[in-house]
Amino acid sequence: MRLLLMGPPGSGKGTQATRIAAGLGIPAISTGDIFRANVADATPLGRVAREYMDAGEYVPDQVTNAMVRDRLAHPDCEPGFLLDGYPRTLQQVHELDSFLDEGTNRLDAVVELVVDRDVLVDRLLLRARSEGRADDTLDVIRRRQEVYAEQTAPLTAEYAARGLLHAVDGDGQVELVSERITGLLAGLGATSTR
Ligand code: ADP
Repeated sequence: MRLLLMGPPGSGKGTQATRIAAGLGIPAISTGDIFRANVADATPLGRVAREYMDAGEYVPDQVTNAMVRDRLAHPDCEPGFLLDGYPRTLQQVHELDSFLDEGTNRLDAVVELVVDRDVLVDRLLLRARSEGRADDTLDVIRRRQEVYAEQTAPLTAEYAARGLLHAVDGDGQVELVSERITGLLAGLGATSTR
């Protein structure tokens, strides 16, 4: 299965991506995690990404696209993949289409986690205390929500038009949300490896 997981910052994408991908035996690819690993290792990519991430802005498409293209070329993506946090701009959507067209791959489904705005900010502030992520300060959280609304929310219309979009209620316990997603994917023909 080739899946995308979408949702605003704080919607639980990362948590769910790991769980769902493990259940399906495919890699979860989080652009945010890859950027953070590069920041931590102070690589050239990390140095570029950091200034955008700390401000709550998107890393430029060119940089992000090249990184994802590389990652999707790894052999572990052959049976499928779950992308978490990519694409986030219309330009990234088109770029992803072109990577997939070069192979024989197509997307199977796009899952959108829907969560109330107030719940999102509360969750991120809570995470700020437990994980200390540099971009989880109130101002940057607000900016990330705005950027998502402006640049990424419109992508759902594109995937809905392709008949790929499935909205899932992201409110509730982690386990419950996972069950909603696995139930949906099972209905689409995905088989669990567990
Ligand atoms: P969140 O969804 O909570 O903002 P992520 O870990 O997914 O957290 O992303 C953190 C940051 O990494 C984003 O604010 C952005 O700067 C950068 N980033 C992640 N994915 C992308 C992407 N597809 N395009 C551009 N920037 C990205």
